[in-house]
Amino acid sequence: MKNEQRDAQPESLEVRLTAAARRRELKVHFQPQYEVDLGQGCGVEALARWTLPDGEDISPTIFIPMAERISMIWPLGAWVLQHACQTVARWGSVGGHAPVLSVNVSTHQITERFAGVIDRVLKSTGLPPAQLELEITESAMIADAGLAIACCEEWRALGVHIAVDDFGVGYSSFSYLARLPVNRLKLDKSFVQRVTFEKKTAAIVSSVLALGKEMGMAVVVEGVETEQQFVLLERLGCQQVQGYLLAKPLPAAEARARLRIPWGTRLTTKSCPAQPTARGLHAA
Ligand code: C2E
Ligand code: MG
Ligand code: MG
Repeated sequence: MKNEQRDAQPESLEVRLTAAARRRELKVHFQPQYEVDLGQGCGVEALARWTLPDGEDISPTIFIPMAERISMIWPLGAWVLQHACQTVARWGSVGGHAPVLSVNVSTHQITERFAGVIDRVLKSTGLPPAQLELEITESAMIADAGLAIACCEEWRALGVHIAVDDFGVGYSSFSYLARLPVNRLKLDKSFVQRVTFEKKTAAIVSSVLALGKEMGMAVVVEGVETEQQFVLLERLGCQQVQGYLLAKPLPAAEARARLRIPWGTRLTTKSCPAQPTARGLHAA
């Protein structure tokens, strides 16, 4: 049965989600992120996964909003945070660097008491706070900007980093950006999908990269799927990338193994005039 059809019977799926969480059937996958210039893995994003006993995957775009509706997002979000921090703390250094772990935070977790959860998780897992980044979407950030700013400041005081996820599609005002204690912008993948054939989109991407630089924030471009996109992004000055071209979200051991392999220098226009194929990249 397709996800859309299941959505027509939310009751049964909601009950199954509650049971799956209780039986610890949810998983966390990790998608590597890379530094363009160095060709090295710099971090991973933790992404929740739910597979039904019959093998069907339910997208987090379905079950995360569902968890929010049935007040399950707190235990689920805390479990993802704990599990992901524990995993990355155990990795230690990968390829000579301690990867930054990015964890998505739901609008419902943007509360002052979430600081207590973060603090407990960091202490119990031993992950250095500077190695944790919390991602909040642009729309969550502006839903209650005052609260988001207060919470982000409190989380930052614990030593963790903050990223604005899906940047560019949430109608945010630049004045919020100036007030929010943000370390990194994650440019939404919808821009990358159009960057190679829309001049105006390329201009937006270039401007966001410049904005990040001027404001002292890193910018990671999400959703890079083709070499053409990668090469153009590099020309526009992009420093960090995430996307299927480089690595899909993977189980922990595979993500760690992938992070150990530097690849970026093989793909850059500077060092590699003859473009390798995507097959060659993934074989690395
Ligand atoms: P997100 O945080 O923006 O995560 C990036 C999404 O883009 C992921 O989808 C990832 O698999 C996908 N992606 C990565 N590279 C590419 C690419 O090259 N092309 C395309 N088309 N997609 C790419 P996923 O895993 O389905 O997650 C969807 C959303 O669900 C996430 O978007 C995030 O908002 C939410 N989510 C996932 N896990 C969690 C979680 O633990 N907590 C919360 N609150 N939200 C989560
Ligand atoms: Mg994210
Ligand atoms: Mg995103």
